[in-house]
Amino acid sequence: MWDAIVVGGGHNGLTAAAYLARGGLRTLVLERRPLLGGACVTEELWPGYRVSRAAYVAGLLRPAVVRELGLEARGLRLIPRRPASSFTPLPDGPGLLLGHDRRAACDSIRPFSARDAEAYPRYEAFLEGAARAIEELLDVPPPDPARLAVRDLPPLLRVLRRLVAHRRELPRLAALLLGPARPALESWFESEPLLGTLATDALIGAFAGPSSPGTGYVLIHHVMGESCGERGVWAYVAGGMGAFAEALAQAARDAGAEIRCDAAVARIAVEDGRARGVVLEDGSALEARAVLSAADPVRTFLGLVGEGALPADFARAVRGIDVRSPVLKINLALDRLPVFRGRPPAAAGGPAPEHSGTIHIGARDLDALEASFAAAAGGALPERPMIELTLPSALDASLAPPGRHVASLFVQHAPDLPAADWDALRDPFADRVLSLVDEVAPGFGASVLHREVLAPPDLERVFGLTGGNIFHGALGLDRLLCLRPVPGWGRYRTPVGGLYLGGAGTHPGGGVMGACGRNAAGELLRDRGIRRR
Ligand SMILES: Cc1cc2nc3c(=O)[nH]c(=O)nc-3n(C[C@H](O)[C@H](O)[C@H](O)COP(=O)(O)OP(=O)(O)OC[C@H]3O[C@@H](n4cnc5c(N)ncnc54)[C@H](O)[C@@H]3O)c2cc1C
Repeated sequence: MWDAIVVGGGHNGLTAAAYLARGGLRTLVLERRPLLGGACVTEELWPGYRVSRAAYVAGLLRPAVVRELGLEARGLRLIPRRPASSFTPLPDGPGLLLGHDRRAACDSIRPFSARDAEAYPRYEAFLEGAARAIEELLDVPPPDPARLAVRDLPPLLRVLRRLVAHRRELPRLAALLLGPARPALESWFESEPLLGTLATDALIGAFAGPSSPGTGYVLIHHVMGESCGERGVWAYVAGGMGAFAEALAQAARDAGAEIRCDAAVARIAVEDGRARGVVLEDGSALEARAVLSAADPVRTFLGLVGEGALPADFARAVRGIDVRSPVLKINLALDRLPVFRGRPPAAAGGPAPEHSGTIHIGARDLDALEASFAAAAGGALPERPMIELTLPSALDASLAPPGRHVASLFVQHAPDLPAADWDALRDPFADRVLSLVDEVAPGFGASVLHREVLAPPDLERVFGLTGGNIFHGALGLDRLLCLRPVPGWGRYRTPVGGLYLGGAGTHPGGGVMGACGRNAAGELLRDRGIRRR
């Protein structure tokens, strides 16, 4: 009999397992894939090329998880994306470069608008204040107004204190948090390349355009966290994103947890309204006092538990989770770094400033992003999709053979189509994406040695993400805080006794953070009268 079985060895499942084992529970992790990490994984897709196959950049990692689990001592190393964290190439001129050096960023903005260059530092300070206030709620179970407890008050008071400190900005903050990104950004800036570039953060993973309600929050979500001590810089994980999962797995094992791969759970055994263990796809049954699922909520409840074991209104709410995915991921091996129009080639083909961060293509203005979404909303492939290109091997030579590189293209907006339709569309769409990169970096397509194209159904098949949704369910305003995954069940417990949920489908949501797994483990331990260590 296990004290706790964790379903899913993604980064949240591994985080939860590490805390459960440190709390003294006999803990077993079961992962269906042959390797750990879920969407936070490094895979050698082609000999010598190690690819962050899904998630590609770290920014949201919770400092508490890194510190408490001793992840740096277990091999985690972050590489800050300097000098530029963001580059927007344009057909004429050197494009827009933004990074940690604020003066250099303003110099890059000024040719488009002197007013915007002046406003940019104030905008950054505004986002900093907003993110700091919200971050107070990331590492705790979300307060539920219907069941407010004394322990919920300190984080709420800290949020309040931060908001009061920024009270002049409150109307603007409310407009950003509750509304679409477009008017919020337009209240700060006028120049299109800057607006388009900043709006990409509001659209990542969202089936939405800049004018869609709720995109303001998605923008804030993506500026929270500060890898390497700097907001918005984000970082590469040395060795690819899987190195984060490996460090977590090591922390879990060191605390006594057992981890099994190639161990797909077919169902969670429920008797008399309580989780009693799991049954694997090979038919073997494992008993446990508690089960913590870090698979997504739809897969967990409708797939592994089954509607028959759930209250009807709860099952209905789970069915209502928006798992559509606008994301197509392309992984590439390249024989050289791209050279962008308007920018000098780097010495000896080495990295130039524009290679270090995210390269935004298709984001030269807000209307282009609106059109990208509008096409997908109408069921069509966008002519000019939003593309986030990253070249991690420019900063981490361990990822590719000498002189060669790996590239990742995170593409939106993929339309919501049946899996069979994607068989005919996957490659033509990828060709279109590569031709758009060629427009700004001639010869890019010719530099491709290998490619992998993952459409939404592929993200579901490979990583087990229902619908291919990268967040385990949209980060809509109706699914935040105690409303996530569904209203009434926002604190990691479920209507099934002894069954907890601890993946990205819970507060504080998607992204490589570790917060969901840490918070869920804390609640399970609490129910057993154990303090999290
Ligand atoms: C293409 C893509 C790009 C992304 N880019 C970024 C990025 O750059 N930065 C960022 O912060 N976030 C990014 N994200 C989002 C982020 O990766 C996810 O939100 C996060 O990794 C989810 O972690 P998780 O541990 O909660 O769940 P998952 O990573 O989904 O892990 C769940 C695990 O459960 C396993 N599982 C499912 N069912 C079963 C079963 N029946 N039995 C056993 N195991 C099971 C799965 O195989 C998986 O390993 C991206 C995601 C994708 C898909």
